[in-house]
Amino acid sequence: MTPVLVINSGSSSFKYQLLDMDTERTLASGLVERIGEPVGAARHTVYATPTDGPSPAFLDATRTRELPIPDHTAGFQVMLDAFAADGPSLTETPPVAVGHRVVHGGARFFEPTLITPLVEINIDELSVLAPLHNPANLAGIVAARTAFPAVPHVAVFDTAFHQTLEPPAYTYAIDVDVAASHRIRRYGFHGTSHKFVSEAAAAFLGRPLAELKQIVFHLGNGASVTAIDGGRSVDTSMGFTPLEGLVMGTRSGDIDPAVLFQLARRAGMTIDDLDELLNKRSGLLGLAGSNDLRDIRAGIERGDVRARLAFDVYVHRLRSYAGAYLAQLGGADVISFTAGVGENAPLVRAAALATLGFAGVEVDPERNAAPERGIRIISTDASAVTVLVVPTDEELEIARQTLSVARS
Ligand code: AMP
Repeated sequence: MTPVLVINSGSSSFKYQLLDMDTERTLASGLVERIGEPVGAARHTVYATPTDGPSPAFLDATRTRELPIPDHTAGFQVMLDAFAADGPSLTETPPVAVGHRVVHGGARFFEPTLITPLVEINIDELSVLAPLHNPANLAGIVAARTAFPAVPHVAVFDTAFHQTLEPPAYTYAIDVDVAASHRIRRYGFHGTSHKFVSEAAAAFLGRPLAELKQIVFHLGNGASVTAIDGGRSVDTSMGFTPLEGLVMGTRSGDIDPAVLFQLARRAGMTIDDLDELLNKRSGLLGLAGSNDLRDIRAGIERGDVRARLAFDVYVHRLRSYAGAYLAQLGGADVISFTAGVGENAPLVRAAALATLGFAGVEVDPERNAAPERGIRIISTDASAVTVLVVPTDEELEIARQTLSVARS
């Protein structure tokens, strides 16, 4: 047994997962939330091993508790208590390493990195670029290092996979001195998922990663698309922050920046108002009143014109990026869909690629609509481009990278 603990820490919550890296199976997972509020909550799920008996989903038990959780350190104690009460025992088999998701690695971190006091300072310093995310990630790191002082902790950065972008892909066409002084450039996000999916696709097809041109659509509540050539990210839709690019659950994606000047001058909106508008009240939510694509689909079935428009705007943007990335790559061998929408919405997958017949992309309607889970082909046998659905697993990817650093 080689247990690795993965931590994904937000400002008022953190998720964790314990994986056995001998089998790459999840042993336990949980969520500690409402940290700092009068009453917090903690959920801990233990998964039975296949040898424990004929449990089809391997799901053993979930326990939820409500209690005050003043800060992240207290939250880690709550997590440790849950492991002690419901298992698996971390005293009998302690994790060999702890992996941490860190959103922003700036231009500094392009690989998973062993966390030292200096790395903590660097992550803190990068909070300038990711004020909502990096301080929250760091709070989880500090608390986890207190809880597990004797094991290596590794930071895995969302931006790292996109460090292979060349200057033409990451440079905004603004005054170079202004950009350089404030480290304004495109960084790209969701890198852990894009890396995992592109590697899983190559392995599934039994083809060398180095030979494949791939486009990966990560369509969840946040959404991004990446062009990947031989395993290297060459273009990606998110930029300086995760706001750029596709239409998302609550984020606008691409927008003319002059809209912000207009709203500031004419509507008296402040920078904070605009930040909130574009990050929290836009995207599908802004267009149709819900950030959940299932609600949009139900709205379309009821004849709701706002839901119809939201879906069409969403798909229009997907097509624009599909075309752009086919052009950047000079064609593609594989197009993959992943995350909540990408894995579960055949309608979106079909619509996104419907106009790409000229480029040899042919989705098979039956394969696309089949209710299967797991990695699968949804293109026709005749399609020149293989279209896949690939369930993403960011925790597993973080655990793999963590273990490789811990062992090196
Ligand atoms: P994620 O951020 O990857 O967890 O994705 C969450 C989003 O996936 C939700 O907000 C929904 O829009 C979408 N989603 C989840 N399940 C389905 C489904 N069965 N059909 C369509 N969309 C779904």
